[in-house]
Amino acid sequence: MYFRALNRIFTKFSFTNKCETALYTRSMACSRYEYVKSYEQDDKILPNVWIVIRVDGKKFHKFANAHKFEKPNDENALNVMNAAGIAVMEEFRDIVLGYGQSDEYSFVFRKDTSAFKRRAAKLLSYVTSMFTSSYVLSWSQWMQRPLSYAPCFDGRIVLYPSDENLRDYLSWRQADVHVNNLYNTAFWKLVLESGLTNQQAEERLRGTLSSDKNELLFQEFGINYNTLPAMYRKGTILLRKRVVIGSQDEQKGRQAIVPIHEDLIGNEFWKQHTEILGKYVPGKYVVSSLNRHLERQLAKQLEKEATIAEI
Ligand code: ATP
Ligand code: ATP
Ligand code: MG
Ligand code: MG
Repeated sequence: MYFRALNRIFTKFSFTNKCETALYTRSMACSRYEYVKSYEQDDKILPNVWIVIRVDGKKFHKFANAHKFEKPNDENALNVMNAAGIAVMEEFRDIVLGYGQSDEYSFVFRKDTSAFKRRAAKLLSYVTSMFTSSYVLSWSQWMQRPLSYAPCFDGRIVLYPSDENLRDYLSWRQADVHVNNLYNTAFWKLVLESGLTNQQAEERLRGTLSSDKNELLFQEFGINYNTLPAMYRKGTILLRKRVVIGSQDEQKGRQAIVPIHEDLIGNEFWKQHTEILGKYVPGKYVVSSLNRHLERQLAKQLEKEATIAEI
């Protein structure tokens, strides 16, 4: 009886005391609510694995229609995606490669990154929200019509233990763009130029092989698929490079994130860009002629670098 009364007084006293401390310090650290933090799960990613984060637009077939994207490829919409990808890589220096196609972007973190203590939820949410906000910020630089609603992206993390797994992952995404783009190119030619309905075009292409679609494009529309823009066929690879423009002195090269549209399935790509799997030192990228898009994607970065260097 005495003990219970004593205990009540003690509990009341210590509670008041803790609350007062909390009020003084304006911190949760000493509050009696702090125990809820122990419900949070440890999501630290295991060491020495490739961390891949892929974001993908939510219902972008609808978003593409609402914003009148050109079919099957709206070049400027792809440039908005690339600008957002570049912004993510500028922010997170441990990303060694980005790969984008359609409404998705994959980011590969260095195996030994210690960014955000390798906490999965932090990494995933920062990358996804940075990508989304940068997509919105970059929109008006490439698109004529205004955004009519807020786009959103989902995100996932996948871990790959070996270099081979990582290469296979990227090859899988690049094979995907090839299959989709060949189909979509043939489909929209049949609809827009031959006047077939969507259903008729679908029936015409059902069960066809890649070689059949290549043949159809060549015979009926005079198109050699392999000469279509590489960005549509191969997607966009973002790499950190020391950019040297024309005959500029090599020492003056500045670091930037460069969009390239190469085949990454074969060995040649990996021989040429050894910095991705090896010890990370950005390779050199000589720009012989700046095309319109490359110029715009690089200009902002190089300006920023110049400002930083001048400070
Ligand atoms: P989900 O929410 O499940 O991802 P989704 O509609 O976004 O659904 P995806 O498989 O991600 O489906 O496909 C994205 C779609 O967005 C494409 O099929 C295409 O219609 C459209 N799209 C994305 N980028 C472009 C572009 N640059 N040009 C034309 N269409 C595009
Ligand atoms: P972390 O990246 O770890 O979250 P942080 O700086 O965002 O670091 P928080 O604990 O999230 O740290 O605290 C957010 C801080 O942002 C506050 O301490 C305060 O300085 C500032 N802040 C946020 N909202 C406001 C606001 N409405 N007015 C003034 N300051 C604000
Ligand atoms: Mg999508
Ligand atoms: Mg997609």
